[in-house]
Amino acid sequence: MTHPSLTGKALVANAFHAPDCGAVEFLPDVAIFIDADGRIEKVSHDIPENAVRLPKGQYLLPGLVDLHVHAPQFPQLGSALDAPLEDWLQIYTFPLEAKYSDTTFAAEVYGALIDHMLRCGTTTTLHFATIHLPATRILADICITKGQRALIGKVAMDHPDTCPDYYRDANADTAVAETRALIDYINTHPENAAGRVMPVITPRFVPACTDACLHGLGQLAAETGTRIQTHVSESDWEHSHVRDRMGMSDTEALDHFGLLRDHTVLAHANFLSGRDMELIATRNGGIAHCPWSNIYFANAVFPLREALARGVQVGLGTDISGGPIGTIWEAARMSVAVSRMLDSGTDPARAPQDRGRAGSRIDIATAFHLATRGGAKALGLDVGTFQPGMRFDAIAIDPAAPAGQIISHGNPPPLQMLEKIIYGATKANIASVWSDGVQRVRA
Ligand SMILES: [Zn+2]
Repeated sequence: MTHPSLTGKALVANAFHAPDCGAVEFLPDVAIFIDADGRIEKVSHDIPENAVRLPKGQYLLPGLVDLHVHAPQFPQLGSALDAPLEDWLQIYTFPLEAKYSDTTFAAEVYGALIDHMLRCGTTTTLHFATIHLPATRILADICITKGQRALIGKVAMDHPDTCPDYYRDANADTAVAETRALIDYINTHPENAAGRVMPVITPRFVPACTDACLHGLGQLAAETGTRIQTHVSESDWEHSHVRDRMGMSDTEALDHFGLLRDHTVLAHANFLSGRDMELIATRNGGIAHCPWSNIYFANAVFPLREALARGVQVGLGTDISGGPIGTIWEAARMSVAVSRMLDSGTDPARAPQDRGRAGSRIDIATAFHLATRGGAKALGLDVGTFQPGMRFDAIAIDPAAPAGQIISHGNPPPLQMLEKIIYGATKANIASVWSDGVQRVRA
């Protein structure tokens, strides 16, 4: 079953969205009017005669937002998970990322990655690329062509003590100049007039960058207003490395260099203090919560409920390939599961009352919000709900798709259906994907 592009039309569907954290809204048989630019004009129960109807049994959800992807690591997704972060980078990841000096290889991998992500329903992604400007331009070209809303960063990493000779920026000036060149390339791209693809300043993390590089990137952000992404306090090693070098927390160090700004997105953030969280909230930064990756590389569970309570914007990340599965469905499921583990604890040798951190669990409605509007808010983008003024980025789900694994016998009520979709959806259930109202994937 296919659905046409929807610009200038109205789509009638049974839709779910979660504008606020912790609450899901079901919109039964609603008409969503989309203008010629792909923006939602109005949402109404008055259904025009020429409306397009989603096939019976399908549901409309906002497109998924992935706040943390290393595009070049796609070939090693689902492998190389046996070493701690600092070794994993040197043994597996830097050698792989170095290969993107080859633009043919880059075009091949990046094309396959964006196809995979759109096919899984991920319509917005915050991408780390590599240090290579030509390959990073190719990633931008591919996202523009294929229609993924994407923020793309050339990775800056120039520190000779932590980055290998074969894979690092020549010096701080080069890292900053090439970051600026990517910003100019994307912002003036002739096929990117709608601005669906955006640049993002991307210091890999404090350990990989010299002070001069971090300072230069902070100045570039202030001058151009470009968003920033990096990693923060991911593991014990990273957290202590920055404290030893800077005499302050990782979060404070980023702030010191002018890198903690409006919509800066920080990946992982497991070892933040309450003060760090409050600083991030004050600067209107956000956190990419990567529950799968944290199992392998953080050895801890991100205290999500605490971050939300302190007013920090949070969304979900797959962390391809630090996480073994490249879909936000999996990140959503695992965000619920690990929050339950933190809440109740995991070591049966401890007494129940000493086993966990009570008050840490989240529910599926919160996970759905984080996977859609939460991620979008962290980035400051008008997507993630079906409300007037939002861009129409959406997915049609067919729970009964024969190759899928959602068990939906007996016509469950809507909220139970959504829970089943979030726990069970795979590529097989994605019937259609739109960004800016234009169909990008069809079953
Ligand atoms: Zn990462």
